[in-house]
Amino acid sequence: MSAAPLPHGSSGDGWQWCAQGHKHWGLYGAAGLLVRSGDLVLLQHRALWSHHGGTWGIPGGARHLGESAEEAARREAAEESELDTAPLVETARFVDDHGGWSYTTVVVGADEALPVGIRGGESVEFQWFRVGTLGSSDGPELHPGFAHTWPQVRDLP
Ligand SMILES: [Zn+2]
Repeated sequence: MSAAPLPHGSSGDGWQWCAQGHKHWGLYGAAGLLVRSGDLVLLQHRALWSHHGGTWGIPGGARHLGESAEEAARREAAEESELDTAPLVETARFVDDHGGWSYTTVVVGADEALPVGIRGGESVEFQWFRVGTLGSSDGPELHPGFAHTWPQVRDLP
């Protein structure tokens, strides 16, 4: 008797090894939402208890089984902030594919850089930063994963 297939939408919470030998969060990969408004980028100040707590990154997390990267990025942003993701239009995406695991950055545009409140326990605050300050020595301390991706996504539309 074979095991029943996992239902669509099963949680992807868990660790996954990639082909490059890293251990990553997200059984089916992970995705994050990079919100831009003109020259500004919306970042999440991560809760101190979280992995690399206290650093700044983008809202995101593990994809569920059968969930697209865009669905996952929007769902995670909605779980972690009061941002209304519905009007945000995708302008670009970047897939960091490690083989067996990937992280997709979904870039969306916001008309206005309005204040964004937090939701859930994974965030301390959300704040808009000028593109030019990210990655510079006087900029915010970035989450290592986001710091790695940022140079590859900063010039996307
Ligand atoms: Zn990897």
